[in-house]
Amino acid sequence: MNPPRKPVVLIVDDTPTNIQVLAEALRVAYRVKVAGGGKMALDIIQQAQPDLILLDVMMPDMDGYEVCRTLKNNPQTQNIPVIFVTAKTDTVDETFGLQLGAVDYIAKPFRLPIVLARVHNHVALKLKSDLLESHALLDGLTSIPNRRRFDQSLETEWKRAQRSGLPLSVLMFDIDHFKAYNDSLGHRAGDDCLSRVAMLLCESVERPGDLVARYGGEEFVALLPETDAEGAARIAERCRVQIEAARIPHPNSATAGWVTVSIGVGTLLPDGADPRALIEQADARLYRAKAAGRNRVCSTLEG
Ligand code: GH3
Ligand code: MG
Ligand code: MG
Repeated sequence: MNPPRKPVVLIVDDTPTNIQVLAEALRVAYRVKVAGGGKMALDIIQQAQPDLILLDVMMPDMDGYEVCRTLKNNPQTQNIPVIFVTAKTDTVDETFGLQLGAVDYIAKPFRLPIVLARVHNHVALKLKSDLLESHALLDGLTSIPNRRRFDQSLETEWKRAQRSGLPLSVLMFDIDHFKAYNDSLGHRAGDDCLSRVAMLLCESVERPGDLVARYGGEEFVALLPETDAEGAARIAERCRVQIEAARIPHPNSATAGWVTVSIGVGTLLPDGADPRALIEQADARLYRAKAAGRNRVCSTLEG
């Protein structure tokens, strides 16, 4: 296992001595990045998100309030905690900064131990909320991404495909006669089987951008960016073969002596329509694969 990474703190200040003092003290526990102005800070954040930002207010190119407003208006950056560290200490200034969404407000000249303690507390909260968020996107039984995560990725990939003009494919999987599996081997064995199938499917898709998720019950889904109908059908068949080759015994399947899956393939060049059209296509073909005898891939409605 990788050692836990050090949380990243970004210090934004146009006074080099402030940066120096803070950076030196924070380096013990954090990976420290520095920016001498607001614009540079936004550039750094765009490349890699820090876990916390210490933000000066008065800076020549773009002031700290503006930086904070920009971050809070962007869903990608709005969860990064911001602490203002500033000589602007009037009640109105502090209220304004907190209303912009900063988690804390520290007056200059700052007292280093207090800055460190506050940074420590807010970083701990941020890491905890990151962890909760990542768990909320995983399926509890199989530990692969869940439906919510899939829906998010589908939305993102749909937009990306609209920009790139490249096709997007989806595979819908449904385990054949899974009720009979549970009935003959028990629900616990059914759960183990779902985990096994999840792992086999994850191993069968190769590209880093591909995503396999549990769609619900004994249904899984794979999202394949930049993949045309032919490529998607090929990957679907590889998945089907992998599951079948595992020869997971199924004593009560009308299709085979082992666990099998039926797969529907959907492929679209995203236009104005919404991504549900892609799911509907894959779903309709999954239904066809079932009707045609199960343990097969259906990649055209005629097939
Ligand atoms: P078909 O070949 O037509 O897909 O038949 P099927 O029996 O697989 O389909 P059906 O929809 O009738 O049954 C799905 C079964 O999946 C019933 C349900 O109890 C089982 N199932 C759903 N989620 C879970 C789960 O988390 N664990 C277990 N063990 N079983 C589950
Ligand atoms: Mg089903
Ligand atoms: Mg089924």
